[in-house]
Amino acid sequence: MLTMTKLYLSSPHMCGLEQTYVQDAFDTNWIAPLGPHVDGFEQAIESYLGHSTHVAVLSSGTASIHLALQLLGVGQGDEVLCQSFTFSASANPIIYQGATPVFIDSETETWNMSPELLEQAIQDRIKNYKKPKAIIAVHLYGMPYKAKEIHAIAKAYNIPVIEDSAEALGSTYFEQPCGTLADLGILSFNGNKIITTSGGGALVTKSTAQKNKAVFLATQARDHASHYEHSSIGYNYRMSNVLAGIGRGQMTVLDERVQARRANYDFYKTHLSGFESIQFLDEPKGFYSNRWLSCIVTASYEQRERIRLALLEDDIESRPLWKPMHLQPVFKDAISFSNGVSEHLFNQGLCLPSGSNLTQHDLERVLQIITNTLSL
Ligand SMILES: *Cc1c(COP(=O)(O)O)cnc(C)c1O
Repeated sequence: MLTMTKLYLSSPHMCGLEQTYVQDAFDTNWIAPLGPHVDGFEQAIESYLGHSTHVAVLSSGTASIHLALQLLGVGQGDEVLCQSFTFSASANPIIYQGATPVFIDSETETWNMSPELLEQAIQDRIKNYKKPKAIIAVHLYGMPYKAKEIHAIAKAYNIPVIEDSAEALGSTYFEQPCGTLADLGILSFNGNKIITTSGGGALVTKSTAQKNKAVFLATQARDHASHYEHSSIGYNYRMSNVLAGIGRGQMTVLDERVQARRANYDFYKTHLSGFESIQFLDEPKGFYSNRWLSCIVTASYEQRERIRLALLEDDIESRPLWKPMHLQPVFKDAISFSNGVSEHLFNQGLCLPSGSNLTQHDLERVLQIITNTLSL
C-alpha cells in the first residue's frame, strides 16, 4: 500500500543556500541580533523592493506593526482603523499601544479593505471627535488591496497608512512591489509565509531616519553613552544574525517561490472552475498576487465543511478563511463598519494546500478528493 504523507497548508521551503549563510554565522561567531547577515538581508530586501526603501529586519511581522504604530505616534486613547478580514496580528499591536481598533469590512474584488466603508468610518469617527490616527490595510493572501482608492481617502483626511504586506512579499500593484505602496510597510518571515527565517519580519520605511528610529527602538532604545543610558522605552525586537542568514538564502529563490504558488492556484482554478459552486478570486487588472494561499469559496458552509473534512480524512490540511476581527470574542466591544462580505468569506471559504514545495502528485491528490466530494 502506498503511504500517504501529510500535506500542509504552507510549509517552509529551503533551497540549500540558507545553510551556507548559517554556517558562516557560526564560523564567524556572529550569533547575535546584529551582524553581516542582518545587514546583508536588509540590503537584499531593499534591492528587491526598490523604490528607495530603507528596511529594518525584526523579530516578527507583529513586532514590525508595533514599531510602525510607534513611529506614527499612536498611543493611549487613539483610534486606529484596521481591516477586519485579517489575521489577529494585524490588530493586536494597536492594543499593545493602548489604542483602540475600529474594524473595516472588505469589498468583493480583492477581499481587502472597502474604500467606501473606510470613508464612512473616517467621517463617523471625526463626527465623534475621534479622528483616526492611522489606517492598517492588508494584502490578504497576497492579493493587493485597492491602494489607489484607499490611499486617496487617507490623503484627503491626512491619515497615515500602514501596509500589512505580511502575506504579500512578491506581489505587485501596477508593477510596484507590495510593501512599498504606503507610508510604512511590514513583511513577515514566519514559518508559513512565502519565504521564511523560521520567525522574523521587516519594517519597510521611506527614509534612513525612520529606519534608524525603528532599529533604535528595536534594540532597547539605548542613547549615546559608554554606559546604558535610556530616555525612552525600548523593545528587544531585532532579528538574529543566524536567522537573517536563512533569509539571505531564501531571497535568492523568492521569484521561484512566487511562480510555484501561482502555478498551484492556476492548477486548482483550471481543474475546479468546471464546478459552478466553486468560486475563485481573480486578479483585477494591474493587480499581481503572489498567491500565498490558494483560496476557494464554496456554495455553502456545509459544502465547505464536507470538503475540509474529506481532505482531513486523507491527512491533508486545509483551513477556513480568516475569521474577521469584528466577529472575534476578544474584539466583541470594538466599533466596526461591516457589510457582510468577510463574514460570508469566513463561512464559505477554504484555503487549500499552497506550499511552493507541493509536487504535481500532491496537487492531484488534493484535486481528486475535492472533485470526489463535489461529485457526490
Ligand atoms: C503572519 C501575519 C502577520 C504577523 O507576522 P508574524 O511574523 O507572524 O508576527 C501579520 N499580518 C498578517 C496579515 C499575517 O498573515
